[in-house]
Amino acid sequence: MALSEFGLIQDYFADLDLGCAQVIKGVGDDCALLAAPKPGYQLALSTDTLIGGVHFPGQAPADCLAERALAVNLSDLNAMGAEPYAFTLAITLPTADADWLAGFARGLGKQALAYNIPLVGGDTTRGPLAINIHIVGQVPQGQALLRSGASVGDSIYVAGTLGDAAAALQLIKSGDLENSDAPYLLQRFYCPEIDFSLGAALRGIATSAIDVSDGLLADLSHILTASRVGAVINVDDLPQSPELLRVGGRQQALDWALGGGDDYRLCFTMAAKYANALSRQGFQIACIGHIVEGEGLRCQTANGETFPPARSGYLHF
Ligand code: ADP
Ligand code: MG
Repeated sequence: MALSEFGLIQDYFADLDLGCAQVIKGVGDDCALLAAPKPGYQLALSTDTLIGGVHFPGQAPADCLAERALAVNLSDLNAMGAEPYAFTLAITLPTADADWLAGFARGLGKQALAYNIPLVGGDTTRGPLAINIHIVGQVPQGQALLRSGASVGDSIYVAGTLGDAAAALQLIKSGDLENSDAPYLLQRFYCPEIDFSLGAALRGIATSAIDVSDGLLADLSHILTASRVGAVINVDDLPQSPELLRVGGRQQALDWALGGGDDYRLCFTMAAKYANALSRQGFQIACIGHIVEGEGLRCQTANGETFPPARSGYLHF
């Protein structure tokens, strides 16, 4: 890697700064230099690492991987109500394979352009495949969506559908890629769409927010802990795609929607009175329960019976 490192960076990663005005100096110096954010804004920073074989199947297409790596980081910004500003990429590669790198750079460039976020620097090393992205966003001062603001009486919402990515992983694992629902589900896994207009619309309205990366139960629990409240979830109200239901059947689909990770949907709490206005603006949001006093999370069915979930999300350790 040592000999070709600089050529590699130059060939694949130097041109993804998109000519954005905030980039004073991008790839090629000791640090990237960025203009300070707009007056009245704060910076939001986050980082996420994808490890081959852990966070994605070993043989995943390079362009899909790049899109997903950036998407999961963008999702963190959105869950904070922040907008994209810049990102860096630290990549560890087993070999410098030109085809793989070209695919990766193509996917990354496509995604960066779609969300108008420049790649401003990074690090390149040799080793088992790992992709680390460090992302920078900006958010109006004092308006970031925190995990800690949920209060008793708030309703709990999810944007879009849950469980699709877990179903996709199942299709990949079982090799059932000819399944007619595979294209939709794989797209949801590899390229979760991040809706920044929703994150922005939730500023000043939502009392808390998180993106669903480890599974609804696990991630909602983070809100509950940070906010020192409990929740009741109605499992019959979980938004599920027809594709998920066809692939999993009712029981399995519910398990995926509750415990499956990788969906990168927003889960947030707010007063129910705001829901109609958001729906009228075209946001697909579903009320899945409400915040209660105490601690912990209780799942129930539409007729009020307690529903015991099969698992509580993906825990790394
Ligand atoms: P240094 O030794 O100062 O850390 P490097 O040799 O690691 O510098 O990197 C040279 C330049 O290329 C730096 O501007 C760095 O940010 C950038 N860079 C390295 N790897 C990547 C990458 N994978 N993607 C984008 N920029 C990169
Ligand atoms: Mg370096």
